[in-house]
Amino acid sequence: MSEPILSVRDLCVYFEVSGDGWFGARKVLRAVDGVSFDLARSETLGIVGESGCGKSTLARAVLGLVRVTSGEVRFAGQDLARLDPEKLREQRRHLQIIFQDPLSSLDPRMNVGQIIAEPLRSFFPRMNSQQRQLKVADIMRHVGLLPEHINRYPHEFSGGQAQRIGIARALILHPEVVVCDEPVSALDVSIKAQIVNLLADLQAEFGLSLLFIAHDLASVRHVSHRVMVLYLGKVMELAPWDEIYRAPRHPYTQALIQAIPPADPKRARANPARPLGGELPSPIAPPSGCVFRTRCPYAIERCAQETPVLRRIGESFVACHLAEQILQPV
Ligand code: SF4
Repeated sequence: MSEPILSVRDLCVYFEVSGDGWFGARKVLRAVDGVSFDLARSETLGIVGESGCGKSTLARAVLGLVRVTSGEVRFAGQDLARLDPEKLREQRRHLQIIFQDPLSSLDPRMNVGQIIAEPLRSFFPRMNSQQRQLKVADIMRHVGLLPEHINRYPHEFSGGQAQRIGIARALILHPEVVVCDEPVSALDVSIKAQIVNLLADLQAEFGLSLLFIAHDLASVRHVSHRVMVLYLGKVMELAPWDEIYRAPRHPYTQALIQAIPPADPKRARANPARPLGGELPSPIAPPSGCVFRTRCPYAIERCAQETPVLRRIGESFVACHLAEQILQPV
């Protein structure tokens, strides 16, 4: 197997937060807690979990946008933390992000051409304006924007079109890895599929490696080669996409799948989605042992005492003491 383009090992991102009252001791919020994974070239890894489970912090840590407490992020074999500032800046060119809310992530004072060209100005200051214009026109065509859009401003676009501008901006430097941070969650249902299909097409065309973040399993189903399920900053399950949907092994993955409404209205009436019950515990005071135990229907005494390690079962990696016993086809 060839070397992964991205390799993350035991990544932890902890934040200190103030304690209770004036003199309360400061507490530690474990946003990302010992996450490891590889991303192969031209692979899409879906990263799924409820709000507050650490997905976006993980993405930002991979991109070097938040301080990492411990662990390692290797891009193309190089440990990003050990690079000198100039080398790190050069590598950052190959790691880009598409944000969740397209309109608020675009500078309202800049027109489309200026927004998309901005990374070129930053990384290639000697590029002349004609070369820039050619590159901007080319990437606009790839993302389905029209040439006449170039002088318009973000507020003149719908959410879906604005996301196309964000995608063009992320891809203008021809990065190797793109983090898609919930790129469709702010969009209407009808537009979501268009943007997901566009990202899949662009991935195939440019050979991109994608980290595709979503809070539900339905959004990553059609784009991911593998899916990683996060809960309170920890990996619960990591498996090829067909395994995740056909034979989810972790109770949390099973609950996320049961929360997906069936696409067929008849099936939806007969077998409605079952939203996940209970509250996500605070990452400042996570449950002992298995962090999912307070919401797990299978929890036993051992689950409160012993933290399950992520272990291989068939094609999947699962962090559950009972993973072999509670496999449920869905
Ligand atoms: Fe549930 Fe225990 Fe498995 Fe955690 S380790 S998911 S509490 S059965």
